[in-house]
Amino acid sequence: MRLIRSIQEMQKCSLGLRSTGKIIGFVPTMGALHEGHLSLLRYAKKNADIAVMSIFINPTQFGPKEDFKKYPRPFEKDCEMAENYGCDVLFSPDPEAMYPDAFITYVSVEHLSDILEGAIRPGHFKGVATIVLKLFNIVMPNLAVFGQKDAQQAIILRKMAVDLNLLVTLVVLPTCREPDGLAMSSRNAYLTDEERRDAPIIYRGLCNAADDFSRGEVVTEKLVKSIQSVYMPSTVLKTEYIAIVDVETLAPVDRISNKVLVAVACKTIQTNTRLIDNLVLGGSL
Ligand code: AMP
Repeated sequence: MRLIRSIQEMQKCSLGLRSTGKIIGFVPTMGALHEGHLSLLRYAKKNADIAVMSIFINPTQFGPKEDFKKYPRPFEKDCEMAENYGCDVLFSPDPEAMYPDAFITYVSVEHLSDILEGAIRPGHFKGVATIVLKLFNIVMPNLAVFGQKDAQQAIILRKMAVDLNLLVTLVVLPTCREPDGLAMSSRNAYLTDEERRDAPIIYRGLCNAADDFSRGEVVTEKLVKSIQSVYMPSTVLKTEYIAIVDVETLAPVDRISNKVLVAVACKTIQTNTRLIDNLVLGGSL
């Protein structure tokens, strides 16, 4: 595995690969790698000639009161995992090179970025869209792989790719879960034992809604209530939102007739850890 820190060197490497007709598969991450990230890497490896992973904790997608400083940075272990799972090139640039003092250009995917996660984390998706477009311009992938775990992010990035005519195919893969159903996340490391014990109810609530839907319930208010009934008894988790929305426009849906995204966000009371999860009913993302 080749580790590249310099933007220019990464661009040179990608131009070289593209000029010889190699297909570049790309997995952008913020590190603290887990099986979720590795599943994306495996897909890139299988469906491209060269698998490039980036590790960059993007400061512009964190709010001033968020966990940018304490976000886990086990870089050596990440390098080892990436290499063991077939990563060919690991790109990990310095923040100062990605965002020099004179940096003033941002990408804003309007409307989709202001709701759900965007309503709670103002500016988050502007940071995400900006860094992903920058990484695309540096890595020049043919194929980029994202996780359904961050469904709104995937929907926003797809819209950016369409609107800005990007020559990259975006692939969204299913959420990897712990055996008890909790969606894998680098932030799960923040949880106390008690919070970790309760956290699987997040997915259990989603599964309740999926069961009701498969039995014919299409009224979203009823599905939301069914999820709430699972979350309500918890003294460890607080619900931030439970939303059932159109998978493309993220507009609220009253009765399900097309594919919908059921998106939930909870916050733990002891460590203030935000946990998000989702399911798509009536299809996939
Ligand atoms: P992150 O490092 O959290 O920015 O995530 C990097 C990529 O991994 C994003 O496309 C995420 O959606 C994806 N990802 C994170 N957690 C999971 C998971 N549990 N299963 C599948 N993909 C995931």
